[in-house]
Amino acid sequence: MSPSDVEAYARALVRCPSVTPASAGSLELIARWLRPLGFAIHHLRFGPAGEEVENLYARLGDAPPVLAFCGHVDVVPAEDAARWRHPPFAAAVEEGILYGRGAADMKGAIAAFLAALEAFLQGGRPRGSLALLLTADEEGAAVHGTRALLHWLEQRGERLDFALVGEPTCERRLGDAVKIGRRGSLTARLRAQGQSGHVAYPDQACNAAHALVRLLGTLIEEPLDAGSEHFAPSTLQIVRLAADGGAVNRVPGAAEAVFNVRFNDRHRAGSLVALLEQRLGRSGCPFTLEVLSSSEPFLTRPGPEVQRLIRAIEDELGSAPVLSTGGGTSDARFLHRHCPVVEFGLVARNIHGVDEQVPLSELEALSRVYLRFLGSFFGDG
Ligand SMILES: [Zn+2]
Repeated sequence: MSPSDVEAYARALVRCPSVTPASAGSLELIARWLRPLGFAIHHLRFGPAGEEVENLYARLGDAPPVLAFCGHVDVVPAEDAARWRHPPFAAAVEEGILYGRGAADMKGAIAAFLAALEAFLQGGRPRGSLALLLTADEEGAAVHGTRALLHWLEQRGERLDFALVGEPTCERRLGDAVKIGRRGSLTARLRAQGQSGHVAYPDQACNAAHALVRLLGTLIEEPLDAGSEHFAPSTLQIVRLAADGGAVNRVPGAAEAVFNVRFNDRHRAGSLVALLEQRLGRSGCPFTLEVLSSSEPFLTRPGPEVQRLIRAIEDELGSAPVLSTGGGTSDARFLHRHCPVVEFGLVARNIHGVDEQVPLSELEALSRVYLRFLGSFFGDG
């Protein structure tokens, strides 16, 4: 099989029920399409025995610069299949719209890139190299996917010069946003220690729930910062609160809260914790703060490659995208440590939801943007 248009690529990929971390034949399919174009194919399985995850690395050419397209073939489950207009892995097209789990996040973008690649290579091989890094471990733990692939590449002494991630970055309209960075994320548990006792004799007890309220007040009453050049102000959200005296007439002796901070490039995780501890200290209440997980923010300065992508979007779609650093995390958090990375794909319209869909016209338009970017990256634009 060799589909020569973006619709055929997208439908064939959506038909693979690659619920994370399964690839369900999708990576083999892509390898079969890339081989005739001259790509060297590496099927890579990472992870402990019995739990290996499939990854694909494909490369054309040896010379720098190396442009890499990165993404994932795995999808979130579609267990509410009965509520879908069309079965989630049937890849049905109705009135110009492709329905299916992964249509927008992000098999559609992979299809668009493959079709662009095919058209681009008809004009001959580029002065430089092309690579594809595709994983089946993005929607899950993301441990044996892009991170492991990059480690493998570095061990081989291979370097990428620029990475384009095809995640659905657009907000309302195709081309309205390009992601050049992501906020950091920090989840922490705050504990207030008190002394339990009878509610009628509060002076003989120390109410931990009251202490926790005072502690949390210091965290939410004042902004963390005012934002930075490319980032919105950092935000803190309390996600769990727990204090229970065990009876209505008993003062709780312990209370805890869990909160998450999405933070910009004014902070590192460590400096943020120091700032939070300093503010908590103002309450005068004893506390412990435990960091449960954290990731650092990153930013790709909008250099010449990003400018080329912006111009491709403008020329093809008529208006310039916003350079965004909002939204959740993606594998760009691993790629940015290796090379500059930018994310541009479809509209994040009902991704992960019932009736995930993409208009075929948007798939074709995205493919044309990718094609223009390929031409311009390798120097003919
Ligand atoms: Zn995705």
